[in-house]
Amino acid sequence: MPVEQYWAPASLAGALEHLRGGDVTILAGGTDLMPQSQAGRVTLRRGLLNIRRVPELHRIERDGAGVRVGTLCTVSELMRDPLVLDHFGILAEACDHFASDQLRNAATIGGNVCNASPAGDLLIPLLVLDGEAELASKPNGTVATRRR
Ligand SMILES: Cc1cc2nc3c(=O)[nH]c(=O)nc-3n(C[C@H](O)[C@H](O)[C@H](O)COP(=O)(O)OP(=O)(O)OC[C@H]3O[C@@H](n4cnc5c(N)ncnc54)[C@H](O)[C@@H]3O)c2cc1C
Repeated sequence: MPVEQYWAPASLAGALEHLRGGDVTILAGGTDLMPQSQAGRVTLRRGLLNIRRVPELHRIERDGAGVRVGTLCTVSELMRDPLVLDHFGILAEACDHFASDQLRNAATIGGNVCNASPAGDLLIPLLVLDGEAELASKPNGTVATRRR
């Protein structure tokens, strides 16, 4: 079925609202999703949700003793971020093995995790660093999060 609707919300609450319907594909950098859909390996759902304009998902900041990395942070950004370099050298090193500059500028950490390829370069460092994922939803009008 072809994509019938496209959204590019500018807030997390707006993005989660579109997800509530269920029949939606999330688009981040598109470096996995676009080649996979063109090759027929993935079928895009009725709604395409571009999350790249959501600022809440694009931050790297301290979080207690740890560091919070937004799903939209690209491989290029991770490689040069001072917090990542100070605390997660192994993640920055893995980024340095990742494809080409062109890919690094578009590919996001969240896309790498969600694509779940066994060859994903960022997965092993995240496992070694005991990384946690924070998942967000908006079940009844307010944004709810949980960690895994
Ligand atoms: C030429 C080429 C070379 C590559 N080289 C490498 C490499 O060296 N190492 C490597 O690890 N990978 C490589 N990749 C794969 C790809 O670039 C990475 O997996 C990248 O991190 C995917 O991120 P993205 O933002 O482009 O994801 P997208 O393509 O936008 O999304 C990937 C999947 O994750 C889902 N998704 C994305 N963000 C979210 C979110 N926040 N919440 C829920 N679901 C989400 C999408 O719906 C989709 O199913 C390469 C790809 C290409 C085309």
